[in-house]
Amino acid sequence: MIYLDNNATTRIDPDVLEEMLPFLREQFSNPSSLYASGQRVRKAIDNARERVAALLGATPGEIIFTSCGTESNNAAIWSALQIDPDRQHIVTTAVEHSAIVKQCEYLAKRGVEITWLKVDNRGFIDPAQFERALRSDTAIASLMWANNETGVLWPIEELAAIARDKGVMFHTDAVQAVGKVSVNVGRAPITALSLSGHKLHCPKGVGALFVRNRSRFVPFLRGGGQENGRRGGTENVASIVALGKAAELALEHLEEVNTRVRAMRDEFEHGVLQSVSGSVRNGDASQRLPNTSNISFENVDSEAALLLLDQSGVCCSAGSACTAGSIHPSHVLLGMGLDADRARGSLRFSFSRFNTETEVVDAVRAVREVVEKLRSTRPKSGAIATDATRPLAAVSARAE
Ligand code: PLP
Repeated sequence: MIYLDNNATTRIDPDVLEEMLPFLREQFSNPSSLYASGQRVRKAIDNARERVAALLGATPGEIIFTSCGTESNNAAIWSALQIDPDRQHIVTTAVEHSAIVKQCEYLAKRGVEITWLKVDNRGFIDPAQFERALRSDTAIASLMWANNETGVLWPIEELAAIARDKGVMFHTDAVQAVGKVSVNVGRAPITALSLSGHKLHCPKGVGALFVRNRSRFVPFLRGGGQENGRRGGTENVASIVALGKAAELALEHLEEVNTRVRAMRDEFEHGVLQSVSGSVRNGDASQRLPNTSNISFENVDSEAALLLLDQSGVCCSAGSACTAGSIHPSHVLLGMGLDADRARGSLRFSFSRFNTETEVVDAVRAVREVVEKLRSTRPKSGAIATDATRPLAAVSARAE
């Protein structure tokens, strides 16, 4: 299998697995227990907290372990709304991950006002427009660091400074940025930042929320006072230990991601754009994650392409998702002003340090063959009718 879907999830690094296993076997005590075995487990959590803090340039007390990126995002937004009943306005964008979009849509139905900022056709927001959207009743601004579909990066340091100058809390969904670009909360007045373990070669089901010292935070989960009273629930010890190791490795491999992984992505993208007619990159070419390539193919349905690529051993994701039999083009690509056909014909390829140069060559060939096959079987007009489209109804969600 040539796995080019690392923005959906990543392979667990063997060193991460090694480090977590003792906490699934003999080291099972509750970290809140006062006897020695419990305290050993507590120490392991403390160590993981230090490692995650080091990855972000934060202090350990600023890290709250959560169950995933979605929880971190939800907790940050929810907390901000609890602080002041007179601040019930949120500024965010139309191209955020569903962990922000769905929560804001839900809050909007309950009276919270949401300002949805738009992006241009390269995927950028306008800082001046952002500044104008911030108000004296804004509870929080939430802008993603890197887009999960296009990889487009925003100048988070600059945007956070604008929010600070307007006296507004600033949250960033850095789930796709952490481990791929340098993320340092010391360089920007960010109030809160979300990350997720499974995008970092760590298992699923663990994440973290950075909350800056002295910023107010109202817990989303109340319980036994864990995480310094900021997130109740007995800690997911093995996964937290894993996240600590993954964070340490992410720092060590950052350079490799920005050189070797970037070179593989560039070679792949160049190969596809050169050899497949009617293919075009989506999103800005330079201000983007080093591992992500989003390409639209004219006269190709991305779900059909994805299924044929799977048969050729290549895993990637589609810029459209099929729910209950109908195809929905990606809200990110539509938000960039792409027409529905271009969005429906888009595929996202995302690399990691576990990919190889040989895979790049094989993947370019597979993409070219699949696109040619789909085009040759496409009727002159109307829906694409190939065997590859038949299992569509079984595909109900896109991994982001
Ligand atoms: N935010 C972004 C940008 C993502 O890409 C994802 C996952 O795809 C999430 C949040 C949600 O993270 P998790 O799967 O850990 O809930």
